[in-house]
Amino acid sequence: MKFASLGSGSEGNALLISTTSGMTATTVMLDCGFGIRETERRLLRLGKTPADITGIVLTHEHSDHVGGAFKFARRHKIPVWLSYGTYQAVGEASKGVELHFCRDGDQLAIGGLEFFPYTVPHDAREPLQYAASDGVLKLGVLTDAGQATAHLIAALGACDALVLECNHDRKMLEDSVYPASLKRRIGGAYGHLSNDSSEAILRALDRSRLKMVIGAHLSQQNNTPELAGQALSRALQSTTVEVRIACQEQGFDWVAM
Ligand SMILES: [Zn+2]
Ligand SMILES: [Zn+2]
Repeated sequence: MKFASLGSGSEGNALLISTTSGMTATTVMLDCGFGIRETERRLLRLGKTPADITGIVLTHEHSDHVGGAFKFARRHKIPVWLSYGTYQAVGEASKGVELHFCRDGDQLAIGGLEFFPYTVPHDAREPLQYAASDGVLKLGVLTDAGQATAHLIAALGACDALVLECNHDRKMLEDSVYPASLKRRIGGAYGHLSNDSSEAILRALDRSRLKMVIGAHLSQQNNTPELAGQALSRALQSTTVEVRIACQEQGFDWVAM
């Protein structure tokens, strides 16, 4: 099992999760917030073409997550998994695409991978985040959540690797030029995770199998890779768990689990 990012942040997100068993390869794209051309260009950078994508799994309807998803899926005849709330929120955009509905607590089998959707507090219709497994290893993904919940901490327990939102530094957001309403939205209970919140989540969850944490969905205005990395490292208090930071332009290269 391996995973890579096409890019991570408010201008677009897409994560690839891939496994091979015998002759069969499965690669699932988690969110597709880039246009068709841009998605294809970024896929190529990671050695993949659209024909390699088995399915697309969506977290929620915000454009940095679904921006290119349905156009890409329609053009390349790729099935899409999403919550019914996300389906309702995107309206006509999903027309002509093979859709599969999922919700909190489900277990989705997509080729050689399993996905476990779980509910998070975020200002979307029915947002889901996911853990993914090849049956042996578990990757946890959490972005776009306003605060920690016992439910999400349980969902992310005993992961071998984690992709975890570190959206903003509270002080940088407070001091930023953003209008007060936007500051309230981002920093609110249905907004985005601050470095502090992610540090607390990481402290709270079962880290017994954890080998790597990747900070993701960083604000380019209100955070720095250094601050995010320091927060994650503080929570880990371990030199055996590797910390990396995803970026908007490059995402991150394949990580073998
Ligand atoms: Zn987002
Ligand atoms: Zn969002």
